[in-house]
Order: sequence, then C-alpha cells, then structure tokens
Amino acid sequence: MSIAQVNGERQATPQRLRTVQDRRLHVPVHVVWEITLACNLKCGHCGSRAGKRRANELSTAECIDVVRQLAAAGTREITLIGGEAYLRRDWLEIAAEIARLGILCSVQTGARGLTKERIAAAYAAGVRAIGVSVDGLRDLHDSLRGVSGSHDQAIRAIENIRAVGIEPGVNTQINALSMPQLPQIFDEIVAAGARSWQVQLTVAMGNAVDNAALLLQPHQIIEVVDCLARLYHKGRDIGFRLLPGNSIGYFGRHEPHWRSLTSNIEHWTGCNAGETTLGLEADGTIKSCPSLPKSHYSAGGTRSTPIEDALRNLESRTVRRDGNRGRSFCGSCYYWNTCQGGCTWVSHVLESKRGDNPYCYYRATTLAKRGLRERIVKVAEAPDQPFAVGRFEVRLERADGSRAPRSLGLDDKRRKRGRLVLCRSCDEYIYAAERACPHCGAAHGPETAADETFRREIQTSIDEVERHGRRILEIAGMAGGDIPARE
Ligand code: SF4
Ligand code: SF4
Repeated sequence: MSIAQVNGERQATPQRLRTVQDRRLHVPVHVVWEITLACNLKCGHCGSRAGKRRANELSTAECIDVVRQLAAAGTREITLIGGEAYLRRDWLEIAAEIARLGILCSVQTGARGLTKERIAAAYAAGVRAIGVSVDGLRDLHDSLRGVSGSHDQAIRAIENIRAVGIEPGVNTQINALSMPQLPQIFDEIVAAGARSWQVQLTVAMGNAVDNAALLLQPHQIIEVVDCLARLYHKGRDIGFRLLPGNSIGYFGRHEPHWRSLTSNIEHWTGCNAGETTLGLEADGTIKSCPSLPKSHYSAGGTRSTPIEDALRNLESRTVRRDGNRGRSFCGSCYYWNTCQGGCTWVSHVLESKRGDNPYCYYRATTLAKRGLRERIVKVAEAPDQPFAVGRFEVRLERADGSRAPRSLGLDDKRRKRGRLVLCRSCDEYIYAAERACPHCGAAHGPETAADETFRREIQTSIDEVERHGRRILEIAGMAGGDIPARE
C-alpha cells in the first residue's frame, strides 16, 4: 500500500522494507546521516546536544564520496538530519547526488527557517520526503524546542511542503508533557496536511538526561500505546498513517494492526542496527544506528575506513544482545528469540546494556497483571557531549510504590522459538507450534485451513479500511503521493 516516490517514479515497494537477502548480506538499506551538528533550535530533549557545528565536519567532496560508497553498498534511502541539515551550505549538492544515484533522499527537520524557497529548492534537488518535528501544541512545542514561534513555523512548513509536491510527514517525541496532547496533535497535523506521523519516545540521552522529568516511566507505555492505537485506527479511516517508531514497544493486542510498512500483517522483528540500518555523524563517524553513542557502536570514520569494511565490523558491536542472560524480563521473555529486547538505543541508555528494554507493551502489561510496574531513577548525569549517556536504575515495584524483588519480574512463559501466528481467540502473537495460547489459554492446533481463512479475513478488512480512506481523500481532491515508510 505504501508507495514512495523516487525522482517522480512511483514505486510499489517502500525503500525501507528489508528483505531476507538484505538481512543476510547486511545491506545498509536505510542510512540516517547527520550532515552537520549546527542547529537553530535549543531542544530540551535533544539527544545529540546539537547547536554548534562539529569542528571537523566532512567537506563537500568527502560527502559526495560517501554517497557513492553507500550507493555501491545498496542503500535505498538516505535521511539527512542535523542539527538542521539545511544549515550546511552544500546540503542541496549532497541531496542532488543522492537522488542522481537513484536513492530516496528524505530530510528530517525542526523547520525553523524552512522557507517556501528552501522547500522548493529541496524539491528541485530531488528531495522527496520531509518529516517535520511537532512535539506538542503551540506553547508546549515552543517551550520544548526553546524558541518561541517555532511551532507555527513547523505547521506552516507542513503546508508548504505539501504545496510543492513533497510528501509531508510529522515526527513527534512522546514524553511526560506531550503524552496528554497526542489526540490534539493528531487533529492539528491532519488539518495542516500531513500524510503520515511517526511517533517515538523521548529517550534518555543528551539533554533529555539533564531534563529527566520529561521522560515517561516504563509503565506509562501501556497508556501511550493504547492511545496511539486508537489514533492509528482513526487515521486509517481518513487515509492518514500513524507509524509507531522503533522505540514504541512491542507485541500485545495492537501489534498485528500497525507495525507493517505494507498492507500485510507483520510484527516487530527486532533492531536492525548494524545490519540494515546505518548512522553517520557529520565528521564521518560510522555507527550502527544514528541514535546510538559512538563510544560503543562505531566502526571508525569515513576518512579512514571504507563503508564496506565498517559494515563488517559493526555486526559484533550491535547484533549480539544477551537480554541480561535470562535474569531480566526480556531475557526470559516469550518473544525473546524474535525481538531480542527491542530497540537497542532505548535499552543501552538506561543501564549501558542491550537487550533489556522496560518500555515494552508486552512486558508492562504482563507485569501489570501481577500488580507490578517498573520505574526508572536517574543515578548519574550524562557528560556534556553529543549522544552522551547517563545512568538509570530500573526498579521493579508494586502498585503502592514499594520495591519488589527482581526475581518477580521475569516472564513465566519463557523463551520459545519458531514462526509467529495470531491466536484466533485473543489476536495476540503465539508460536505456531503451541497447542494452547499462552496468553488466553484457547486451544491451538496445527495450522489449519480455518487459520488461513482467519488471516485472510483480517487482511481483507485492513485492505478495505485503507481503500476506504484513499477514496475519501480522492473525493476531497487531496490524494497525491503516498506515505513514507518508517524507520
Ligand atoms: S519484553 Fe523484551 S524481549 Fe519481550 S517483547 Fe518486550 S522488548 Fe521484546
Ligand atoms: S537502536 Fe533502535 S532506533 Fe536504532 S536501529 Fe535499533 S531499533 Fe532502530
């Protein structure tokens, strides 16, 4: 269903969709590239502590060479970010080279100073998707972004982006302040003409560690996901796509509906960092994910290391996760072999380990059924550096706030392995070999023709809702391109 446009050509497959071959060969399908750390906003949640450009940012010629290396490695989408990407004078030259080599060029922006003229120039250079950050209604957005008037500029930018024919998307960080405003943000960005909305959690990195009161508590993920799922369905009815970002965790009753990049039913399959996702910093540092700190997840810089070599070195730094060797909920989790602890970034920034992620819907709902919840407490500040990490303790507690022993916080369903299918009774994912659903207890025999029919029925209903939404937009004369894929 999602059809991205590259240089005017409509393509049936989203660029970010990973194939089995991509995963096996570690093709850097999607690259997020900080081309400068210079920024004209002062966000209280900025993980990279952007503001001033880095002292040793790549030259134009070095950037062009990077684009060519990525094209040779099979990259299909490059997202230019900052800081603010357009504060680099040669950003359009870089964008044009990306487009010339047949790679989708997208941009993520705070949009302060993203004028009509800049947007038109971006389109002429080949940029085909722009995501604008909207982190709240006017007062909240301006206060989070540290600049009065930045909200109105972001909303105007969405309208202007749509007017020149670029796909307008919106990105929103969800934190303790923006969470209550999500339904109103939805209404506001739909009215401005946005076609898709990627939502992410504010993650404990950089400035967000300094302002830790902003961070959601892990048990709040239940409320967040339930609210987002309602908005997802509301959006589908009008052809608007809500895309849960990789930090919005995982499984539970909403998973079959919203995780897919296409109209097929899909589920979360784990972090792609260092496998099919790559991050680049403005000085050429190559990382397995743009959000991860280079201290642990870098394989050198483009000035000294060919990207092809870096890709081989990144694997061992990211892919192996241990889930705290079974001593944490993730490590004991039913879904471990599929998920491996969700987003590495969310997990690493808390306790400097990967594969143990308390911001997970399945984990939080399972604990809630036992009268338990998790809370993070900051125990060390983050240094004053880009992508700096502090330290947090993840506490297990009872509903009255008293501490509970960690041993109570394991998944008693324990790790299983195999292909995931949907339970026909409760709509949650279970492993195909199960004889009874571990979530609702319903009997589950080997896959039958009835299962196949059930899957087709869900698929048909999803397709119908999407068709219905498109039709409404066509009637309203609004249908243009399609929806950009998520990270
Ligand atoms: S508890 Fe951990 S391993 Fe299990 S689904 Fe959630 S994030 Fe994944
Ligand atoms: S660390 Fe998180 S954001 Fe980065 S690739 Fe993995 S899932 Fe995506």
